[in-house]
Amino acid sequence: MFISIISLNKNNTDMTFELPKLPYAFNALEPYIDAATMEIHHGKHHAGYTNNLNNAIQGSSLESMPIEAILKDISKHSPAVRNNGGGYFNHNLFWTIMAPNAGGEPQGEVKKLIEKSFGSFAEFKEKFSSAAASRFGSGWAWLVVNDGKLAIGSTPNQDNPLMDLSELKGTPILALDVWEHAYYLKYQNKRPEYISNFFSVINWAQVEKNLNGALG
Ligand code: MN
Repeated sequence: MFISIISLNKNNTDMTFELPKLPYAFNALEPYIDAATMEIHHGKHHAGYTNNLNNAIQGSSLESMPIEAILKDISKHSPAVRNNGGGYFNHNLFWTIMAPNAGGEPQGEVKKLIEKSFGSFAEFKEKFSSAAASRFGSGWAWLVVNDGKLAIGSTPNQDNPLMDLSELKGTPILALDVWEHAYYLKYQNKRPEYISNFFSVINWAQVEKNLNGALG
């Protein structure tokens, strides 16, 4: 099972989800992701999803559930829970799979499984980039583990592969936000350039942890 950092953000005393602190400074991912984008993305967008999720579940049985359990049966819940629960979870993961002085190529189990699943790191990179570039409108690109195998895909809006209604299924171990709010200040319409630079900030050590957690 996906051991999340994420559930730890739930405050047990008042049963609300909390916006996690960024694990680095707003400018730490420069020059690939600019400080202004990070500050607005975390402090406004992610904070908004978190607050709206709390408002959407207030007084319901969902208040006592971990986010993963809510997402698993998302088709039973309201659009507000779907959009904001997805937004809450997706960004929690996104911040952790990036880091300063990161990028390069994965090692360990991630490297082995990428080579087994896609042939080579270069082929993985091409396939993941293509999933991110071809997602029409707002959404996310993913690397997931499903039945011990890796798969690449994308989802619209704030959907994710943990949701019962998602076409792409599995435990996400790497995520890329391709909403315009994630890149427009610096890259404007050049989404492919943002995607290419994302590879310079991928925190492969965290992806390895995510993989190990997913393989259990
Ligand atoms: Mn976002």
